[in-house]
Amino acid sequence: MSSRARVLVLNSALGPLDYRVPRELAVEPGSIVVAPLGPRQLLGVVWEPERMPSDAEVGDNRLRNLLAVADVPPLRAPLRRLIEWTADYYLAPPAAVARMTLSSSAALDGARSAVEYRATGAVPDRLTPQRAQALERIGERQGLIRELATIAEVSDAVIRGLVKSGAIEPIEVGIDSPYPVPDADHAPPALSPEQSEAAGTLVGAVAAAAFQPILLDGVTGSGKTEVYFEAVAAALRVGRQVLVLLPEIALTEPFLKRFHDRFGCEPVAWHSGLRATQRRRAWRAVASGEAKVTVGARSALFLPYAELGLIVVDEAHETSFKQEDGVHYHARDVAVMRGLFERCPVILASATPAIETRHQVALGTYAEVKLPGRYGVAEMPAIDAIDLIEEPPERGRWLSPRLVEALRDTLARGEQSLLFLNRRGYAPLTLCRTCGHRFQCPNCTAWMVEHRLTRRLACHHCGHVEPVPRLCPECGNEDTLVACGPGVERIADEVAALFPEARAAVVTSDTIWSPAKAAEFVARMEEGAIDIVVGTQLVTKGYHFPNLTLVGVVDADLGLDGGDLRAAERTFQQIRQVSGRAGRGAKKGQVFIQTHSPKAQVMQALVTGDADAFYAAETEARQDAGAPPYGRYAAIIVSSEEQAAAHEVARLIGRHAPEVEGMAVYGPAPAPLAMLRGRHRFRLLVHARRALDVQDVIRDWLGALDWPVKVRVAVDVDPYSF
Ligand code: ADP
Ligand code: ZN
Repeated sequence: MSSRARVLVLNSALGPLDYRVPRELAVEPGSIVVAPLGPRQLLGVVWEPERMPSDAEVGDNRLRNLLAVADVPPLRAPLRRLIEWTADYYLAPPAAVARMTLSSSAALDGARSAVEYRATGAVPDRLTPQRAQALERIGERQGLIRELATIAEVSDAVIRGLVKSGAIEPIEVGIDSPYPVPDADHAPPALSPEQSEAAGTLVGAVAAAAFQPILLDGVTGSGKTEVYFEAVAAALRVGRQVLVLLPEIALTEPFLKRFHDRFGCEPVAWHSGLRATQRRRAWRAVASGEAKVTVGARSALFLPYAELGLIVVDEAHETSFKQEDGVHYHARDVAVMRGLFERCPVILASATPAIETRHQVALGTYAEVKLPGRYGVAEMPAIDAIDLIEEPPERGRWLSPRLVEALRDTLARGEQSLLFLNRRGYAPLTLCRTCGHRFQCPNCTAWMVEHRLTRRLACHHCGHVEPVPRLCPECGNEDTLVACGPGVERIADEVAALFPEARAAVVTSDTIWSPAKAAEFVARMEEGAIDIVVGTQLVTKGYHFPNLTLVGVVDADLGLDGGDLRAAERTFQQIRQVSGRAGRGAKKGQVFIQTHSPKAQVMQALVTGDADAFYAAETEARQDAGAPPYGRYAAIIVSSEEQAAAHEVARLIGRHAPEVEGMAVYGPAPAPLAMLRGRHRFRLLVHARRALDVQDVIRDWLGALDWPVKVRVAVDVDPYSF
């Protein structure tokens, strides 16, 4: 009798399929296999048939043979359960979730080593401008031919030519070469009594080796990282793996440095900037258990850990943990589920926990560990609101006199300042003074943002860029374009005009686009080469600069615009985080919050520092509205390049909305970004009681309908904002 296997075939719109397993292949659930599909050969994962129903039952005699089994450990049951849960909860195809685990199919390449290339330093006989450019850009870097060509912005042929001429040489890189092992006892800090107590609880949870989510709620500068490092050390001592999730790659570099100081070597970093060989090496090391500590952005959550003993989600309240395309999942919540399946503790560290997380603590499902004070001599900064109506900036300026004075004093004392404005570029809107023409993105319902550093207009949604024209495209007049409102670049101009002698730096994703750039910024701050930082949310978290004593929030009302469900919470979190950058060392910090509504509850809570009062009021409002965590939402987004087609399908879905007790459906209406990347978007919003299995309802509802392939229907369960 031939044996048969159910395979979740990746890169396929089809559900799981059955195959025959030839005698020479050994497979078990979780095995990664190569399966034929039509003329193609695709990767797949063998699954328990009873957990993954197939809608195409095929008789034994018509089965096709599996072609190969990959030379990597099978995906373990806890990861398979996580993939099933994620697919189920977020209404995504299981294959799309499994693909996140196998994102690097190179990881499955049977080879134990790969050939990379690097410059030899020799100058080729024929040095064309292209070759010179390539060698200069490549510098000391190494990689596959393809990767070097991308770095150098030349064709593969140019790189191959350089290999032939001897200017670039192949090198063998072992992808099974071991990573250094972090040493739990390398340089443990002397913890304060409060820190020791907190660390004790976390270490206890690691020792218990059981599922337990724990909120590590500590004010900025309280030493949360030092404290959870003790839990990391505890996991290392018993030989188990640790995953640390960070919200952004920009935070990776400072983290690696701190980790190195504490544990004597760097952890394994997992992020989108890895080269193919590095990815392959990291993936295999995670799967074999050799990578003891992995740090990464949300995609590290789906890696095939061999023996996970602890998960840490740092800055757990961060919105970037929510993935907004492909599978719409929230990494913080999936991290908790992974902890459940792996039977290990999950630490959520934050100075401003999400209301949902606090709710779980109140219910008793999550434990809580608190660090109420800053470490050492550092005190919390003084926080004052500046009423922009009473103390307005000068005409055409954005910084009020009191903030300008504070900047002057801080400069005079040789200390550093940070001005926070969550808006990249020079101005959020550019218009023609003569005819009123506004620059809109051709692909999105959004204004083009002027960037003076690059002399371009850019769409912040799709990345479309255009040069800033000299003439108005509408009326043809010259030099009539005016910038409306401030972005960080404009604030930097104001700083330069006020303090020509000060050294200012703009810090946004436009200037800090790689871990190396982040490291450079940190070094310049530390050596005192920057006096004033003007930055977006990128500088609000993670950084520790003891000489930074003044923080100015340029427009505290910005995040309250639009008034979505989480506007107040997000504003509170963001401003509290950025305030937390001030006075982290021996010198006391001062924060000024510029606002038009200093009486607003969120501003009051920021000034008094009474987080509990703010959360209590916000929680009550949510309860009254039946909003999360007391009720739930799901958004159904219908999109197409053709507006009429999208609208028609949205209406079809709306007409078939089921009548369910405890559930209401709103819409369809144009989505908040009615056009995005050239697609027209309509939205239906589902609001339901907490207890209702809303996924089940939506699955049946949409499952009974059909629409043309040019229309895409995506479901966002627990949408972040709407
Ligand atoms: P948080 O993440 O809570 O904002 P950090 O972990 O960044 O705080 O700690 C703030 C600063 O205090 C860091 O420079 C950290 O190294 C230092 N620190 C915290 N606890 C200790 C300790 N026990 N011994 C020495 N330095 C500490
Ligand atoms: Zn756009």
